[in-house]
Amino acid sequence: MLEINSLSVAYGHRLALDNVSFSVREGEVVALIGPNGAGKSTLIRAASGALPARSGSVHVEGVNLRHLSVVERARRLAVVPQARNLPPAFTVYETVLLGRTPYLGWMGQASDLDRECAWRALERTQLTALAERRVGELSGGEQQRVLMARALAQETPILLLDEPTTHLDLQHQAEVLNLARSLASHHHKAVLMALHDLNLAGLYADRVVMLVNGRTQVVGAPHEVLTEQNLTAAYRVPVHVVTHPEYGSPLVLPDGREGRQP
Ligand code: ADP
Ligand code: MG
Repeated sequence: MLEINSLSVAYGHRLALDNVSFSVREGEVVALIGPNGAGKSTLIRAASGALPARSGSVHVEGVNLRHLSVVERARRLAVVPQARNLPPAFTVYETVLLGRTPYLGWMGQASDLDRECAWRALERTQLTALAERRVGELSGGEQQRVLMARALAQETPILLLDEPTTHLDLQHQAEVLNLARSLASHHHKAVLMALHDLNLAGLYADRVVMLVNGRTQVVGAPHEVLTEQNLTAAYRVPVHVVTHPEYGSPLVLPDGREGRQP
């Protein structure tokens, strides 16, 4: 569904992604992890076509992204970006309706279907009660959910999420990740999400891609990637990995606290 082939991306002369390859299949959630500056956001931006590749390619449903117009891309890929620079004077509903832009007719009029999609996206992100509020008056976490709803309203087969849980409390973290999970499992979407929290990556992803200095270090199932050895090498800090008592997923605990013996 989404194929990243030997992708390299540079800012000026500095390579931010170096020969990265992996794919996200229909119905799959892939988590992108790695230390700060590893290139996660760069990969999300390049996968959406917002950043040009220096070499390599991104294929979406078998078509090279370079051969698609902006509108054609927007019908295939929706992005929840890390930065929240939403127009503050728009209401939540108006902002989510913007997700329908790639489907509007030449007069730019929203149809009943467009409005229906926007309301459904608001429901799925528990934002219905906030529909008439101005985006500029919302908390960071609420704005994050507005971005998620806007991406859902776009009704694309592929979702790209850049740290979608960063500003959210525990309840809304679980809701956003369960939603991502269910969109993959029940609606056959391909979901790629950069995640800061390794334990959430282990719990919600089918596969994990670990980036370090712009390179794919390891790709595999959570228990193959989230090992003490891989994490200590990538994050340069000792960690301890245990098994989630209920789900069996890897849980990463900090280790090596100074000045205290076990
Ligand atoms: P991550 O999301 O994993 O923290 P980024 O993709 O944001 O990492 O950044 C990867 C590298 O590219 C970092 O070294 C960062 O400083 C650099 N970088 C990111 N955005 C830009 C930019 N707009 N211009 C120049 N360098 C950038
Ligand atoms: Mg980032």
